[in-house]
Amino acid sequence: MSVLYSSTRSDSKKLTASQAILQGLAEDGGLFVPDHIPALEKSMEELAKLSYQETAYEVMKLFLSDFTEEELKNCIAKAYDQKFDTEEIAPLVYADDAYYLELFHGATIAFKDMALSILPHLMITSARKNQIKNDIVILTATSGDTGKAALAGFADVEGTRIVVFYPKHGVSPIQEKQMVTQKGANTCVVGIEGNFDQAQTGVKQMFNDAQLKEQLDAAGFQFSSANSINIGRLVPQVVYYVYAYAKLFENGKIQKDEPINVVVPTGNFGNILAAFYAKNMGVPIAKLICASNENKVLYDFFESGCYDRNRDFILTNSPSMDILISSNLERLIYRICGNDTAANAEFMKSLSENGKYQITDEMKAQLKDFYGNYTDEAGTKQEIRDVYEKTGYILDTHTAVASSVYRKYRKDTDDKTVTVIASTASPFKFTRSVMDAIDSEKYASMSDFELVDELSKIGNVAIPNAIEEIRTAPVVHDIVCEVEEMPKVVKKFLGINE
Ligand SMILES: *Cc1c(COP(=O)(O)O)cnc(C)c1O
Repeated sequence: MSVLYSSTRSDSKKLTASQAILQGLAEDGGLFVPDHIPALEKSMEELAKLSYQETAYEVMKLFLSDFTEEELKNCIAKAYDQKFDTEEIAPLVYADDAYYLELFHGATIAFKDMALSILPHLMITSARKNQIKNDIVILTATSGDTGKAALAGFADVEGTRIVVFYPKHGVSPIQEKQMVTQKGANTCVVGIEGNFDQAQTGVKQMFNDAQLKEQLDAAGFQFSSANSINIGRLVPQVVYYVYAYAKLFENGKIQKDEPINVVVPTGNFGNILAAFYAKNMGVPIAKLICASNENKVLYDFFESGCYDRNRDFILTNSPSMDILISSNLERLIYRICGNDTAANAEFMKSLSENGKYQITDEMKAQLKDFYGNYTDEAGTKQEIRDVYEKTGYILDTHTAVASSVYRKYRKDTDDKTVTVIASTASPFKFTRSVMDAIDSEKYASMSDFELVDELSKIGNVAIPNAIEEIRTAPVVHDIVCEVEEMPKVVKKFLGINE
């Protein structure tokens, strides 16, 4: 049965998967959701034999039902190739009572690569399928990581251009270096004299600018967005949960149908929602353990049923989880209120007007498979140190939040179910925080690259390409502009005259 997509806030319009990917967000501001979650067609015995790419096909074909076999296999082949530094794509590593599912072997050594390496291909395939002749121009505002992962995904993908705006004085030196050294004639990286919110607002204004849209269309272009609520990012993330379970089964770590728990370091709620979808497809996942840092809106939500963003925003050493509005949670809310779009729209209205909403007891009862907890800065560092001292394995700060929450869960529940922890970044991406956790005195005076060498030595792991590259790569993007000049910069890059 083919899957169609509609908004979480009104069910009038049904779209095919390719239409939903092209559009990104529904016109009413809602997120696209599948009309049902398809069940896996192959048995676990069959799935166990498959490569990552083959698993991706088996899972994604069920969600993207208007893609042909050839189209989808072509997208998968182009995404999960030598950009990843291991053939397994997403290997499992056992350390200290848990399996760490390493989702950081792609171009930017963080888990966003899992989806952003395939999204460009899904998008141009979707454009061709819907007779769109224009080239797709991706506009992104970034506070650091997503920009680089999107650049790496779209670089040199035919039929696309990508423009990334970042706050010139608001990202780390390594993050900036990663972006301004990005290769690919279709890429453009721009520092703005403003903060992230201004960059984001500037991008939104361009999306809504009718005159600009006409100018682009006349020149053979149209805008699209790569942000994390696109179902073209969600669906590829379901794959690695199926793959992880199948590999545990193949390697005799679990028996047939034996349940596992999954722990996910969470920000926007995309990754853990993908695990929830995998469970609904038939993967025997028992508990979905949602780990937060000190921005613990989700923990409070699972405790009280009240989602409340009215609080201080805390800067932590797991910055990719510093989020107060977890956009993808809307898909779960929609689901637990019985796919009632009007009810969901009310909750979201309350969120935007009052910064909070309270779900009903009936809805809360449907969250019993979720467990939420959080860890502070000290707990995160302690976890990195503990796991390193016990096993020699080095976690990044985000993974350490998950790992630390897992220890709390075990203590709370004494549940010894086999557990997979999503490992969302390489420790090399957050070298200073990681080394500081291991020995703050010893490493305090070292430079960033000295720390990289030291991390490689004490962890006995090779330095990833993504890091080696930025040591030597030349700067190829040096545009800096005022916020008001953003549209001008875009037009210039596309060769459109005023
Ligand atoms: C984005 C990100 C997360 C959070 O993932 P969500 O899907 O937004 O919940 C966690 N860790 C790292 C390293 C990330 O980049």
